[in-house]
Amino acid sequence: MRLFYDLHIHSCLSPCGDTDMTPGNIAGMAALCGLQIIALSDHNTCRNTPAFAACAAKAGVLALPAMELTTREEIHVLCLLPTLPAAAAFSDYVYRRLPDIRNDEAIFGAQIVMDAEDTVVGREPRLLTSAADIGIYDTAALVASYGGVALPAHVDRPSFSLFANLGFFDPAMGFTAVEISPYTEPAAFRRTHPGLEGLVTVQNSDAHELGCIQDAARALDIPERTPQAVIAALRRGAPGGPAPR
Ligand SMILES: [Zn+2]
Ligand SMILES: [Zn+2]
Repeated sequence: MRLFYDLHIHSCLSPCGDTDMTPGNIAGMAALCGLQIIALSDHNTCRNTPAFAACAAKAGVLALPAMELTTREEIHVLCLLPTLPAAAAFSDYVYRRLPDIRNDEAIFGAQIVMDAEDTVVGREPRLLTSAADIGIYDTAALVASYGGVALPAHVDRPSFSLFANLGFFDPAMGFTAVEISPYTEPAAFRRTHPGLEGLVTVQNSDAHELGCIQDAARALDIPERTPQAVIAALRRGAPGGPAPR
């Protein structure tokens, strides 16, 4: 089945996320946009994913728990997890590898934890946008050990990306999929960046505000509407796999 997706969305738990990016608002906007699969991917945490899953279920949209991990090299990697317990365990693992730097809300913005009623239940004190002590060569295998899949995020961007920070793609990293920003044409980008042939490409909004969540424009072809099917499709990493549009 062909299902419209947006797998990279930030909530108000990301310091750079708009305060309107509550779990309920994101789920509601995704449904209005006609999306069928969405993932909440805050920086280095999955703490808002339980509330988000509940809100998405109410809105009739499949939610994947996710995280945008910042590796030791300051490369952003989108990590998609199969279940809430797996996401919680992965989130704890990453948290233990984040430097204990306090978040200054006046400089970076608030990091708000919410429940499924969009009620504030806490604020994360540690700055979530720091680099975790996890190397890029270890990331794919690490996320796979939690049953998930990891893909270098916005590889076409000039900062916090694989090519900007490292300068090359190495198959030994074990990635089977990459994320390319919606405003870049994937085929053209592949031609100038060797090594990406055969990898699944996805294009997500990386929305930090409600109006940026993408419309029903990009679809995955998967056999069933489950997190496991999405993850399996992105692990396939072969030509003929899911592609945008
Ligand atoms: Zn990013
Ligand atoms: Zn992001």
